[in-house]
Amino acid sequence: MSHGKVTRWKVKMSELDLDVLIIGAGPAGALAASALNREGFKIDVVEKQTFPRFVIGESLLPHSMDLLQDAGLLDAVERQGFMRKHGAVFLRGAEVCNFDFANQSGGGWDYTYQVTRADFDKTLADTVAAQGVRIDYGQTVTAVDFNKDRAAVTVKGAEGASRTVAAKFVLDCSGYGRVLPRLLDLEKPTNSPPKESMFTHVSGDARPLGREEGKIWVCMHPQGAWIWIIPFSNGNSSVGVVADPEFFKKFSGTEEERLRAMIMGDENAAARLGQAKILFPPQSIKGYSCAVKRLWGPRYALTGNASEFLDPIFSSGVTLALESANRAVHVLTRHLRGEPVNWDTEYSEYVMQGVNTFRAYVMAWYNERLPQIFFAAQRNPDIMRQICSVLAGYVWDESNPFVHQAERAIGVLSELVRLQAGPAGAR
Ligand SMILES: Cc1cc2nc3c(=O)[nH]c(=O)nc-3n(C[C@H](O)[C@H](O)[C@H](O)COP(=O)(O)OP(=O)(O)OC[C@H]3O[C@@H](n4cnc5c(N)ncnc54)[C@H](O)[C@@H]3O)c2cc1C
Repeated sequence: MSHGKVTRWKVKMSELDLDVLIIGAGPAGALAASALNREGFKIDVVEKQTFPRFVIGESLLPHSMDLLQDAGLLDAVERQGFMRKHGAVFLRGAEVCNFDFANQSGGGWDYTYQVTRADFDKTLADTVAAQGVRIDYGQTVTAVDFNKDRAAVTVKGAEGASRTVAAKFVLDCSGYGRVLPRLLDLEKPTNSPPKESMFTHVSGDARPLGREEGKIWVCMHPQGAWIWIIPFSNGNSSVGVVADPEFFKKFSGTEEERLRAMIMGDENAAARLGQAKILFPPQSIKGYSCAVKRLWGPRYALTGNASEFLDPIFSSGVTLALESANRAVHVLTRHLRGEPVNWDTEYSEYVMQGVNTFRAYVMAWYNERLPQIFFAAQRNPDIMRQICSVLAGYVWDESNPFVHQAERAIGVLSELVRLQAGPAGAR
């Protein structure tokens, strides 16, 4: 089987043979490296960039704490002094829905962190390196060639020279790089709504104090966008707007002027950020939702953003990256030890269960069912606790009806809310 550029097997396999080559040292790659190293496998990580590097995706979910802890990475994260995040606040004009992670049905972690990803990802990678894992920075995977026993991976160095690395298995943790989906033609059209995002960091965010300070704010903009405000412990905050492409076309001027006008168009964002200073020219990203035809093949598996990415609305990306990497390691460990494994049921179906639960919430956010529930005049506290557990990332807890039958539960509840509101309350 040959994919991507045809690679000649120039190396003496016995010299360079790895059990696993990990592509990418983001959260998925770091967690996988830590766990595989602990299992005693011979691994290497190749990372295209040098750390620290900026990447978007700064608000974690409480379930990520379980995963970081199991991988032996949580202590290092806790020592960084990141902003504690106790929940998520959704605002639509004067209406507020405040989820506090202390009020979950499933008893998960009641906090997590808002992280500058440059620092968070470097912390994870340095911790993994200190555990004895080799991370080769400035090295880009450009081709891969599989045969019956091995993968031969072409890695290009910063100075332009290529080398070939042989490994029994390749774990693709390349995130937005989507190395194997591109090389192996695994890309699939996504059914997520087509959205764009513009974001930056600011100083001078007039945030609430105390326990509320670290919560993410999600402001529903009257023109159909939504705005995140993610406060960091250094006093700066991340601010981003997500909307249909049409929304962004309504704003002219420099990127900074456009972003400021978008912020000022929402009363809640304007109240916090009216005096804020934009710290770097706003960046834009589009076409970030992605899907794949399959999550694994004979000598590879895809994790994190190298597999599926839905939408930023519920801050699920890093948690799904960590969970999929953790699960891949779990299955791969047994596979490499010669035990029978079923990648379809044990990996793909498991990962997709979590992805699809979040998908139901993303869809319901954009088709207004979820805002209807969040901003209902009367909210059942038990139900809100179950939804809070989902928003905390516990999307594999089948005992939660808002996980187990997410789409149906949201549909029934939103209909109930609509009927209770009567014609006057319907929006
Ligand atoms: C607008 C927006 C907002 C978001 N907000 C959030 C949020 O608040 N919370 C959240 O959890 N998630 C958020 N996300 C999602 C989050 O960014 C990703 O889900 C997360 O970074 C995925 O982690 P990862 O480890 O899979 O990949 P990444 O973090 O992308 O890491 C992959 C690494 O692989 C390396 N790489 C790429 N190509 C190659 C190659 N060819 N060779 C070697 N190395 C390579 C890259 O340099 C990178 O360091 C957001 C996404 C978007 C688009």
